[in-house]
Amino acid sequence: MQPKEPSPALRLTVDSRALVANWNTLNRLSGAAEAGAAVKANAYGLGIGKTVPALWEAGCRDFFVAHWSEAGPVAAHVPAASVSVLHGPLTEQDAIYARHLGVKPVINSLAQARRWIDAGGGQCDVMVDTGINRIGLPLTDLGDSLILQLSIDILHSHLASADEVSHLNALQLERWNDARGQVAHRRASLANSAGITLGSAYHGDLTRPGIAIYGGTPCAALDGKIAQVARLEAAIIQVRELKSGDSVGYNATYVASRQMRVGVVSLGYADGYFRVWSNAGTMIHQGQALPVIGRVSMDMTVIDLSNAPTLAEGDWVEVVYDLPDAAAKTGLSQYELLTGLGRRFAS
Ligand SMILES: *Cc1c(COP(=O)(O)O)cnc(C)c1O
Repeated sequence: MQPKEPSPALRLTVDSRALVANWNTLNRLSGAAEAGAAVKANAYGLGIGKTVPALWEAGCRDFFVAHWSEAGPVAAHVPAASVSVLHGPLTEQDAIYARHLGVKPVINSLAQARRWIDAGGGQCDVMVDTGINRIGLPLTDLGDSLILQLSIDILHSHLASADEVSHLNALQLERWNDARGQVAHRRASLANSAGITLGSAYHGDLTRPGIAIYGGTPCAALDGKIAQVARLEAAIIQVRELKSGDSVGYNATYVASRQMRVGVVSLGYADGYFRVWSNAGTMIHQGQALPVIGRVSMDMTVIDLSNAPTLAEGDWVEVVYDLPDAAAKTGLSQYELLTGLGRRFAS
């Protein structure tokens, strides 16, 4: 008989009520427009399976991924949804795959439009660049006969500075409105999470929130409206006693000034718990703070157990990972903090 799978020593739990509440909030803030969901990068690291079906249940009908490798897993969970692949068809094979799977490429160039039409075409989205200068069709190409041949569902553009006060927002809005007048399409979309807060002019028919669904607050207008979704927990794999003068971890960056009990936790930078948390992070147990001491290593982090003297090997602690706060403390973006989480977490 096969032995049972070893139990994981890391857990990432998705609070699906918070997830759905956040999406409902963003859908409401989108006014007359519908909210979709950006679920690229495995739903910002939280897991397609733990997010996409719940969002569908809540009423979300439009899902956005970046890579072709992400389209199949999303479509498998929500076969009746509209799934758009933001990077567009880079090869003929991508176009054939999209048609087979029933997902839409987002056309970002005349070459992609040509590729899509040559593969047989069908409904697609178009991304027009209005000033971010990342991917997207230049506005001047919108009138090209190739674009006029497309059957466009969503005409997208993407804001460069939605999370701050910038003259670019109004400029991109104006160019996006121009684009809407130039080419036939069913729906128009411009706003990401932060863009939703810029007002109804930015909403179009459909918004594309991502980070705020998952508990991030990219701008002050969303403060207090978004709930934490991801909860991280890690197991203690060893407990030890330090004497005054003992040091902890690589390069001895922490030196005990007294006798103390410490725990070694099975979490490290390979799990996305980066070295910035060295001597800076906190874990908690029953409301008690357990500070990180010494350097975070690849698979281990040491915490001070002074506030939780009963904790022992095999017990679990929660990792403090409030996104806005963690971003302020580490200098990492809330996006990096979520998408950087590794693959060793179980649900
Ligand atoms: C990732 C992405 C979004 C979502 O952005 P958030 O800032 O996470 O809300 C929306 N639109 C496009 C084109 C994206 O690439």
